[in-house]
Amino acid sequence: MRRKIVAGNWKLNNDINQGLALVKELASQVAEKNPTAEVVVAPSFVNLAGVVSELKNSKIEVAAQNMNENASGAFTGEVSGDMLTAIGVEKVILGHSERRAIYGESDELLAKKTDAALANNLEVIFCIGELLEERKSGSHFEVVAGQIEKGLFHLEASAFDNIVLAYEPVWAIGTGETASPEQAQEMHAHIRKVVDAKYGASVATKLPILYGGSVKPGNAKEIFSKEDVDGGLIGGAALKSEDFMGIVTAFD
Ligand code: PEP
Repeated sequence: MRRKIVAGNWKLNNDINQGLALVKELASQVAEKNPTAEVVVAPSFVNLAGVVSELKNSKIEVAAQNMNENASGAFTGEVSGDMLTAIGVEKVILGHSERRAIYGESDELLAKKTDAALANNLEVIFCIGELLEERKSGSHFEVVAGQIEKGLFHLEASAFDNIVLAYEPVWAIGTGETASPEQAQEMHAHIRKVVDAKYGASVATKLPILYGGSVKPGNAKEIFSKEDVDGGLIGGAALKSEDFMGIVTAFD
Protein backbone atom coordinates (compact mmCIF):
# COMPACT_ATOMS: atom_id res chain seq x y z
CA MET A 1 0.00 0.00 0.00
CA ARG A 2 1.23 3.50 -0.82
CA ARG A 3 2.00 5.96 1.97
CA LYS A 4 -0.90 8.20 2.93
CA ILE A 5 0.06 11.76 3.88
CA VAL A 6 -1.82 14.84 5.05
CA ALA A 7 0.32 17.98 5.17
CA GLY A 8 -0.75 21.36 6.50
CA ASN A 9 0.76 24.40 4.80
CA TRP A 10 0.38 27.26 7.25
CA LYS A 11 1.61 29.85 4.73
CA LEU A 12 2.03 33.33 6.30
CA ASN A 13 -0.08 32.46 9.35
CA ASN A 14 0.56 31.59 13.02
CA ASP A 15 3.17 33.30 15.16
CA ILE A 16 5.19 31.07 17.50
CA ASN A 17 2.55 31.12 20.26
CA GLN A 18 -0.29 30.26 17.89
CA GLY A 19 1.84 27.63 16.16
CA LEU A 20 2.85 25.92 19.42
CA ALA A 21 -0.73 25.94 20.68
CA LEU A 22 -1.88 24.34 17.42
CA VAL A 23 0.76 21.60 17.37
CA LYS A 24 0.19 20.78 21.06
CA GLU A 25 -3.45 20.07 20.24
CA LEU A 26 -2.54 18.14 17.08
CA ALA A 27 0.11 16.07 18.85
CA SER A 28 -2.29 14.93 21.56
CA GLN A 29 -4.99 14.06 19.02
CA VAL A 30 -2.59 12.23 16.72
CA ALA A 31 -1.31 10.23 19.72
CA GLU A 32 -4.88 9.38 20.71
CA LYS A 33 -6.27 8.59 17.23
CA ASN A 34 -3.17 7.04 15.65
CA PRO A 35 -4.30 7.89 12.10
CA THR A 36 -3.35 5.91 9.00
CA ALA A 37 -2.04 9.04 7.32
CA GLU A 38 1.38 10.49 8.08
CA VAL A 39 0.87 14.00 9.42
CA VAL A 40 3.04 16.96 8.43
CA VAL A 41 2.92 20.64 9.39
CA ALA A 42 4.71 23.43 7.52
CA PRO A 43 5.18 26.58 9.64
CA SER A 44 7.07 29.66 8.46
CA PHE A 45 10.89 29.60 8.71
CA VAL A 46 11.09 31.56 11.94
CA ASN A 47 8.87 29.07 13.77
CA LEU A 48 10.36 25.83 12.46
CA ALA A 49 12.84 25.24 15.30
CA GLY A 50 10.22 25.83 18.00
CA VAL A 51 7.71 23.54 16.34
CA VAL A 52 10.31 20.80 15.74
CA SER A 53 11.25 20.95 19.41
CA GLU A 54 7.60 20.86 20.55
CA LEU A 55 6.97 17.81 18.32
CA LYS A 56 10.07 15.81 19.24
CA ASN A 57 8.08 13.05 20.96
CA SER A 58 5.27 13.11 18.40
CA LYS A 59 4.76 11.32 15.09
CA ILE A 60 4.00 14.64 13.38
CA GLU A 61 6.74 15.71 10.98
CA VAL A 62 7.79 19.22 10.07
CA ALA A 63 8.30 20.72 6.62
CA ALA A 64 9.60 24.08 5.49
CA GLN A 65 7.48 25.97 2.95
CA ASN A 66 10.46 26.84 0.74
CA MET A 67 14.26 26.94 0.68
CA ASN A 68 17.07 28.44 -1.36
CA GLU A 69 18.88 26.43 -4.02
CA ASN A 70 22.32 27.52 -2.78
CA ALA A 71 24.21 26.03 0.14
CA SER A 72 25.54 29.38 1.43
CA GLY A 73 26.66 32.81 0.28
CA ALA A 74 25.46 36.33 -0.38
CA PHE A 75 21.72 35.67 -0.63
CA THR A 76 20.16 38.05 1.87
CA GLY A 77 17.01 36.81 3.50
CA GLU A 78 17.32 33.24 2.27
CA VAL A 79 17.46 29.86 4.06
CA SER A 80 19.46 26.84 2.87
CA GLY A 81 18.72 23.13 3.01
CA ASP A 82 21.44 22.38 5.54
CA MET A 83 20.09 25.11 7.83
CA LEU A 84 16.79 23.24 7.78
CA THR A 85 18.26 19.81 8.48
CA ALA A 86 20.44 21.31 11.23
CA ILE A 87 17.30 22.20 13.22
CA GLY A 88 15.60 18.84 12.59
CA VAL A 89 13.33 19.73 9.66
CA GLU A 90 12.81 16.63 7.49
CA LYS A 91 10.80 17.91 4.53
CA VAL A 92 10.34 20.91 2.29
CA ILE A 93 7.46 22.06 0.09
CA LEU A 94 8.75 23.25 -3.29
CA GLY A 95 6.94 24.81 -6.22
CA HIS A 96 3.79 25.90 -4.44
CA SER A 97 1.72 27.90 -6.92
CA GLU A 98 2.08 30.99 -4.72
CA ARG A 99 5.89 30.69 -5.01
CA ARG A 100 5.58 30.18 -8.76
CA ALA A 101 3.10 33.03 -9.34
CA ILE A 102 4.02 35.67 -6.75
CA TYR A 103 7.78 35.09 -6.53
CA GLY A 104 8.34 34.02 -10.12
CA GLU A 105 9.86 30.62 -9.34
CA SER A 106 10.47 28.83 -12.63
CA ASP A 107 10.59 25.12 -13.37
CA GLU A 108 14.35 25.47 -13.84
CA LEU A 109 14.82 27.09 -10.45
CA LEU A 110 12.63 24.44 -8.85
CA ALA A 111 14.79 21.71 -10.37
CA LYS A 112 17.82 23.30 -8.65
CA LYS A 113 15.96 23.65 -5.35
CA THR A 114 14.94 19.99 -5.57
CA ASP A 115 18.57 18.95 -6.07
CA ALA A 116 19.66 21.04 -3.10
CA ALA A 117 16.89 19.62 -0.90
CA LEU A 118 17.66 16.01 -1.81
CA ALA A 119 21.38 16.62 -1.27
CA ASN A 120 20.46 17.62 2.28
CA ASN A 121 18.30 14.51 2.80
CA LEU A 122 15.09 16.53 2.86
CA GLU A 123 11.97 14.88 1.47
CA VAL A 124 10.46 17.13 -1.20
CA ILE A 125 6.74 17.78 -1.47
CA PHE A 126 6.76 19.04 -5.06
CA CYS A 127 3.70 21.04 -6.13
CA ILE A 128 2.25 21.12 -9.62
CA GLY A 129 -1.03 22.36 -11.02
CA GLU A 130 -2.68 24.27 -13.80
CA LEU A 131 -4.29 27.72 -13.96
CA LEU A 132 -8.00 28.12 -14.64
CA GLU A 133 -7.32 29.32 -18.23
CA GLU A 134 -5.22 26.23 -18.84
CA ARG A 135 -7.99 23.92 -17.66
CA LYS A 136 -10.55 25.83 -19.71
CA SER A 137 -8.41 25.57 -22.82
CA GLY A 138 -7.86 21.84 -22.24
CA SER A 139 -4.07 22.11 -21.83
CA HIS A 140 -4.07 21.05 -18.14
CA PHE A 141 -2.67 17.53 -18.70
CA GLU A 142 0.16 18.92 -20.80
CA VAL A 143 0.92 21.76 -18.36
CA VAL A 144 1.16 19.43 -15.37
CA ALA A 145 3.28 16.89 -17.28
CA GLY A 146 5.60 19.75 -18.33
CA GLN A 147 6.02 20.91 -14.72
CA ILE A 148 6.98 17.39 -13.65
CA GLU A 149 9.35 16.86 -16.58
CA LYS A 150 11.15 20.18 -16.15
CA GLY A 151 11.27 20.06 -12.36
CA LEU A 152 12.04 16.41 -11.71
CA PHE A 153 12.94 14.34 -14.75
CA HIS A 154 16.65 15.05 -14.49
CA LEU A 155 16.65 12.93 -11.31
CA GLU A 156 17.71 9.29 -10.98
CA ALA A 157 14.87 6.87 -10.24
CA SER A 158 16.19 6.32 -6.69
CA ALA A 159 15.61 10.02 -5.89
CA PHE A 160 11.88 9.36 -6.04
CA ASP A 161 12.11 7.57 -2.68
CA ASN A 162 12.26 11.12 -1.32
CA ILE A 163 9.69 12.82 -3.53
CA VAL A 164 6.00 13.34 -2.88
CA LEU A 165 3.91 15.11 -5.53
CA ALA A 166 1.09 17.48 -4.68
CA TYR A 167 -1.39 18.21 -7.46
CA GLU A 168 -2.97 21.57 -6.71
CA PRO A 169 -5.12 23.09 -9.43
CA VAL A 170 -4.47 26.80 -8.94
CA TRP A 171 -8.15 27.63 -9.44
CA ALA A 172 -9.01 25.52 -6.38
CA ILE A 173 -6.47 26.97 -3.92
CA GLY A 174 -8.03 29.15 -1.25
CA THR A 175 -11.08 29.74 -3.44
CA GLY A 176 -13.52 27.35 -1.80
CA GLU A 177 -13.77 25.64 -5.18
CA THR A 178 -12.54 22.05 -5.18
CA ALA A 179 -11.72 19.81 -8.10
CA SER A 180 -14.34 17.07 -8.11
CA PRO A 181 -13.08 13.71 -6.85
CA GLU A 182 -13.31 12.53 -10.49
CA GLN A 183 -11.22 15.48 -11.76
CA ALA A 184 -8.63 14.81 -9.06
CA GLN A 185 -8.50 11.09 -9.87
CA GLU A 186 -8.24 11.77 -13.60
CA MET A 187 -5.24 14.07 -13.12
CA HIS A 188 -3.57 11.86 -10.51
CA ALA A 189 -3.83 8.85 -12.84
CA HIS A 190 -2.34 10.98 -15.63
CA ILE A 191 0.54 12.05 -13.37
CA ARG A 192 1.25 8.44 -12.43
CA LYS A 193 1.25 7.51 -16.13
CA VAL A 194 3.73 10.31 -16.94
CA VAL A 195 6.06 9.09 -14.18
CA ASP A 196 5.60 5.46 -15.26
CA ALA A 197 6.55 6.32 -18.86
CA LYS A 198 9.84 7.82 -17.69
CA TYR A 199 10.83 5.67 -14.68
CA GLY A 200 8.67 2.54 -14.88
CA ALA A 201 5.97 1.06 -12.69
CA SER A 202 8.21 0.41 -9.69
CA VAL A 203 8.66 4.17 -9.19
CA ALA A 204 5.19 5.25 -10.32
CA THR A 205 3.15 2.83 -8.23
CA LYS A 206 4.81 3.77 -4.97
CA LEU A 207 4.90 7.55 -5.53
CA PRO A 208 2.49 9.34 -3.16
CA ILE A 209 0.41 11.96 -5.00
CA LEU A 210 -1.46 14.40 -2.75
CA TYR A 211 -4.37 16.60 -3.79
CA GLY A 212 -4.58 20.22 -2.68
CA GLY A 213 -7.24 22.87 -3.18
CA SER A 214 -9.96 23.73 -0.66
CA VAL A 215 -9.92 20.32 1.05
CA LYS A 216 -12.12 20.41 4.15
CA PRO A 217 -13.27 17.81 6.68
CA GLY A 218 -16.54 17.58 4.73
CA ASN A 219 -15.01 16.66 1.36
CA ALA A 220 -11.75 14.91 2.32
CA LYS A 221 -13.17 11.39 2.62
CA GLU A 222 -14.64 11.43 -0.87
CA ILE A 223 -11.53 12.90 -2.52
CA PHE A 224 -9.20 10.55 -0.62
CA SER A 225 -11.33 7.55 -1.58
CA LYS A 226 -10.04 7.82 -5.15
CA GLU A 227 -7.49 5.21 -6.12
CA ASP A 228 -4.63 7.54 -7.06
CA VAL A 229 -5.20 10.18 -4.37
CA ASP A 230 -2.83 9.47 -1.49
CA GLY A 231 -3.68 12.36 0.77
CA GLY A 232 -3.77 16.12 0.78
CA LEU A 233 -1.83 19.34 1.00
CA ILE A 234 -4.06 21.56 3.09
CA GLY A 235 -4.02 25.36 3.40
CA GLY A 236 -6.88 27.13 5.18
CA ALA A 237 -8.23 24.04 6.92
CA ALA A 238 -4.80 23.29 8.44
CA LEU A 239 -5.03 26.29 10.76
CA LYS A 240 -7.60 24.82 13.18
CA SER A 241 -6.86 21.53 14.91
CA GLU A 242 -10.44 20.31 14.63
CA ASP A 243 -10.60 20.90 10.86
CA PHE A 244 -7.13 19.52 10.21
CA MET A 245 -7.77 16.40 12.30
CA GLY A 246 -11.05 15.89 10.41
CA ILE A 247 -8.95 15.65 7.24
CA VAL A 248 -6.08 13.67 8.78
CA THR A 249 -8.51 10.99 9.96
CA ALA A 250 -10.39 10.78 6.64
CA PHE A 251 -8.48 7.59 5.71
CA ASP A 252 -9.52 5.78 8.90
C1 PEP B 1 -2.54 25.24 -0.50
O1 PEP B 1 -2.20 26.40 -0.37
O2 PEP B 1 -1.66 24.38 -0.71
C2 PEP B 1 -3.94 24.91 -0.39
C3 PEP B 1 -4.35 23.76 -0.86
O3 PEP B 1 -4.76 25.86 0.18
P1 PEP B 1 -6.33 25.68 0.52
O4 PEP B 1 -6.47 24.34 1.20
O5 PEP B 1 -6.63 26.82 1.43
O6 PEP B 1 -7.06 25.73 -0.77
